[in-house]
Amino acid sequence: MGLHREIRRIRKIGGATVARYYARQFGNAFIHPLNLVRPARCECSCCGWRGARFLNYVGYDETLRNYVCPRCGSHARHRGLAIFLRRLFGAQGRVLRVLHFAPERGIAASLSAHPRVNYVTLDMARHAVSVRGDIGAMPFLDAVFDLIICCHVLEHLSEDGRALAEIARTLRPGAQALIMVPMVADWETRATLEFGAPQPRLSDHWRLYGNDLPQRIAAAGLTCTSIRFSSFLTREERDIYQSGDDIIFVGARPS
Ligand SMILES: [Zn+2]
Repeated sequence: MGLHREIRRIRKIGGATVARYYARQFGNAFIHPLNLVRPARCECSCCGWRGARFLNYVGYDETLRNYVCPRCGSHARHRGLAIFLRRLFGAQGRVLRVLHFAPERGIAASLSAHPRVNYVTLDMARHAVSVRGDIGAMPFLDAVFDLIICCHVLEHLSEDGRALAEIARTLRPGAQALIMVPMVADWETRATLEFGAPQPRLSDHWRLYGNDLPQRIAAAGLTCTSIRFSSFLTREERDIYQSGDDIIFVGARPS
């Protein structure tokens, strides 16, 4: 529950850090009136919101400016992924069965309404999903999905290998999983840092992924490639959507 979690967090990372966090959150209040008077330069590719700038994302150790959609709550990565999915489904002539873990609101709204998407969502805790269940032991038959979306989920799991194995099991031969995880600047120069426990300062992440992520995906029996946002979005589009240049790891089940 929210209050319990917050008290636990204060105990672990200190009241001063939490107080600074709330002060920075308050700074977002000044962005709303700005959006009423300044010309629109940004657009949310998830919900269509337009305005001068997005809200800031406030974490315990960082503030990411111009990052969160005030209407649908999308983050930079969701706006890039939304465009990727729109183009992917636009090129498809048939209905695809899509599984989406811990569905983000902005992406879920467009996929659930899409005429060529048979949309299934799964999460342990939320009520607004089609199926409640564990990603490490999914209640689905083998080889039933044409696409799986796993965006910022693996870092929350103690054993990401179990989830990747389940993704491989439930994908149809030839089908793909789109996997995104938090990547920091040095990720390509080091292996994954395993913390051994969820880190309260890092949104309860169990690890910080590094250059062995493709091997982890391959260990589940999937062929791994990667796609940068900059390969399908122009600089101008990335400015408008404030998407950044994130990476989608594509795990494909061999045909
Ligand atoms: Zn939005």
